[in-house]
Amino acid sequence: MKEIERLKDISKGRDDLEQLLNNTLDIIKACEDLESVTKARISILGKKGTVAGIFKKIPEFPYKDRPLLGEFGNLLKKVAEQELDSKEKQIRAAIREKKLAGLAIDVTLPGRGKPLGRRHILNMTIREIVSIFLSLGYRVIHGPEVELDYYNFEALNTPTYHPARSLQDTFYFKRDDPVKDSRDDVLLRTHTSPVQVRVMESTKPPLYVISPGKAYRRDEIDATHSAVFHQVEGFAVDRGITMGDLKGTLEVFAKKLFGEEKSVRFRPHFFPFTEPSAEVDVSCFACDTAGCSLCKGVGWLEIMGCGMIDPNVFSYVGYDPEEYQGFAFGMGVERIAMMKHGIDDMRLFYENDVRFLRQFHV
Ligand SMILES: [Zn+2]
Repeated sequence: MKEIERLKDISKGRDDLEQLLNNTLDIIKACEDLESVTKARISILGKKGTVAGIFKKIPEFPYKDRPLLGEFGNLLKKVAEQELDSKEKQIRAAIREKKLAGLAIDVTLPGRGKPLGRRHILNMTIREIVSIFLSLGYRVIHGPEVELDYYNFEALNTPTYHPARSLQDTFYFKRDDPVKDSRDDVLLRTHTSPVQVRVMESTKPPLYVISPGKAYRRDEIDATHSAVFHQVEGFAVDRGITMGDLKGTLEVFAKKLFGEEKSVRFRPHFFPFTEPSAEVDVSCFACDTAGCSLCKGVGWLEIMGCGMIDPNVFSYVGYDPEEYQGFAFGMGVERIAMMKHGIDDMRLFYENDVRFLRQFHV
């Protein structure tokens, strides 16, 4: 550095300046951390520092020496600044180096996998059921889980004296403003069927709708009952729909879901909102109608309820039963998943034990 050479030149033969120069350079050299660099900066370049001291003393010297002292002061200032800056850079680099060494990463180590969430078996079952109906031209419509009595019972042709309306079976909400008309009672829907009424009320036929969702009943929880469960509701309304369409549709569905080799049968049954009504059975997976312990000797397993939509239901939504006919069906998702996968306790679905849930993923 030519400045240093010049400084040495000037201080040659002048002990006081030589000492000043050497002291300054030694102080900087001795710095080991950022704190000592700051201290050195203050002691050399500060208001009361070495360089300021030189300028202060200039008037005390003979006139002819003053320019040289001025030059010495300016050069010392410049050199000290450069040296301090480079010292600080060195120290910062060393600190960074040390930090990085502490964070040593072995890039050859295998990565740690993050466990991914998977679909729950009930959701998988719902998707499977829904996709079959989508392939038949149905569309998915969801309805509210908090319902009015009107949609859950009344408009589904379930009269006020029907036992399903009992407080023992249904979760009712307490209202601050008690209603005079029981149709305005608020409840948790006991089935997905109210979606039928809501859709028909707002849409003109033709309708081919599938509606999966949760339903609620005041059941004691055991191997085959739960207060919350899943249903898939489906219905079709069009001109000229017959029981034959219902049977054909559900037979196609059951065979797609459970296997082409299965047989399907319809047994007469009763539901308030369909007439005639039936329950649908599929041939037992274990014995193929011969009768065994799985089917309790019956040879068949019940998979859902169905029927032709009662003309009374049409009257609630303003459809002319002479013009339109329709069928409806509903199935329990848990029941279907249990049959398909040989699960004997419904509670397993809700306990979220991953050892159970994992079995359904391949
Ligand atoms: Zn059987």
